[in-house]
Amino acid sequence: MKKYTGNPVSPGIALGKAFVYLDNNTSEVPRYSIQKNQLDSEWSRYLSANDKAIEELTALNVQAKRNMGKENADIFDAHLMMLEDTEFQGQIKERLETSLQNIEWVIKELSHEMSAMLMASQDAYLQERAVDVVDVLHRVMNKLLSVQKGALANLSEDVILVCRELLPSDALTMNKARVKAIVMDMGGATSHTAILARAFEIPALVGLSSVSKEINTGDTLIVNGVSGELIVNPEKSVQIKMEHERKHYYRRLGELRKLHNLPAETRDGYRVSLKANIQTPEEAEAVLRAGCEGIGLYRSEFLFLAAGRPSDEEEQFKAYSHVLKIMGDLPVTLRTADVGGDKLLPELQLSDERNPILGWRAIRVSLSQAEIFKTQLRAMLRASMFGNLRIMFPMISGIEELEQALAVLEEAKSELHKQGKAFAEAVPVGTMIEIPSAALTADILAEKSNFFSIGTNDLVQYTIAVDRGNEKVSYLAQPFHPAILRSLKQIIDAAHAKSITAAMCGEMAGNASFTALLLGLGLDEFSMNALAIPRIKWVIRNVTQESCGRLAKNALRCTSYRDVGRLVEDWTLSELGITNYDAI
Ligand code: PEP
Ligand code: MG
Repeated sequence: MKKYTGNPVSPGIALGKAFVYLDNNTSEVPRYSIQKNQLDSEWSRYLSANDKAIEELTALNVQAKRNMGKENADIFDAHLMMLEDTEFQGQIKERLETSLQNIEWVIKELSHEMSAMLMASQDAYLQERAVDVVDVLHRVMNKLLSVQKGALANLSEDVILVCRELLPSDALTMNKARVKAIVMDMGGATSHTAILARAFEIPALVGLSSVSKEINTGDTLIVNGVSGELIVNPEKSVQIKMEHERKHYYRRLGELRKLHNLPAETRDGYRVSLKANIQTPEEAEAVLRAGCEGIGLYRSEFLFLAAGRPSDEEEQFKAYSHVLKIMGDLPVTLRTADVGGDKLLPELQLSDERNPILGWRAIRVSLSQAEIFKTQLRAMLRASMFGNLRIMFPMISGIEELEQALAVLEEAKSELHKQGKAFAEAVPVGTMIEIPSAALTADILAEKSNFFSIGTNDLVQYTIAVDRGNEKVSYLAQPFHPAILRSLKQIIDAAHAKSITAAMCGEMAGNASFTALLLGLGLDEFSMNALAIPRIKWVIRNVTQESCGRLAKNALRCTSYRDVGRLVEDWTLSELGITNYDAI
């Protein structure tokens, strides 16, 4: 039995068998031991990857002969011969059986040894063959890793997914019903994969540094998404204790869900709105059941990510109108696509930006791809006929960008007019405040916005200069930082000065530790993963706005995030009688 502690980013408790997922975005080749009874399946993985590599090489060979002439294409013949050579395959198989290591590792070792041997030879011809061996085995390796990628979508057994890093696109396409928990070496609490795990209600731990190298597929794991504990191959007594905790956790969750029909109102009558964040249209029904009062953020880019390309107008119209119909009169905030950063769209973007987080992302992509942007706005506008639509722009850095986006929206409207297609004329348009330059000019942006939605995931990332997906610096991502509190106050005050709503859709809104402070700062609307709604509602219904206001005032006088944290802890104990919000 071995124990680790990670950063719990999605609550829940799970017990199950590990599935080590080897992502191919890394130059590191994973290594783990296998049992004798896994030899056959490991060998079939190799054969399937080898077949795919042969298929690819055959196509390349035909193409090369056509374009480069037979002589230059001979190289592909040589590579093909190597992959089809039964003696060579026998060598790999023997190595697999004697080493009992995963097939990727066997291939990596073989590739190193063979190329070193060829390089050491006196014969120039043989020396040159070293690069061919590396090349050919590299191709098989890539296939092996992508064969595994497919395996994620086709999981047929319950697993606990163990990986170095899971891309949001992988999380989106994996067979979610089979993934009982996720354990990741990398990542922070506001990384998009963590956000998806919460949306799918899959317990998750991140920031476990190299655990994916230490766990083997088939190990039994306990994942505690509340305490952050990960136990590998637990003893029976530990499993029994965990089962007890699991029952208690889900019983408490059931109790909190009974608040479902009660308003989000403080004891002294201050009413706020609790909305849900969703990533896929399919989530709409579940979040409505969870008691949300609308959708505060629909991350439309996930529609594009699932398809691997920008969706066409009809596909988008179908998805948006589905959500609007389900929500009826409740507001639905559709955010225009925020691709880029960790949400790359292969058809549009390359992964070689030096600073993707500061690069071609969100509204910047939309404004430079006007047709794609307009298509999206047309689809959104048309969907407005089915419910209560709001549109919102991500990553606005200043008034110029907001004005440009509004101009494209006007173009989309006039195109629809010309086509005689119906839409609601007065759709409210909001600005996401998630870049420090937007926070500092919130008074200017408020002039042209119908509402603000504060994206604290990015606001914290850009204000404190801390990559939200990097576990090495995640200790710095502190929403209690005085810079963040001042920023929030400035944004909320600027919204209220222009009589527009101040909403928040960053993860801070769904974390009970921050609720009282946000109430005290005057936030009107909280949007979060649906799982968090009952707990946040419980806090709201058990405090007074007056006391939260005093808390916020005192917090704004603090000089460090530690001091703010202590202040909030003391306040929580005296006001709510608890030491920790997990205890709710
Ligand atoms: C945010 O940045 O807080 C936000 C809600 O947007 P996203 O997490 O999609 O970047
Ligand atoms: Mg954001």
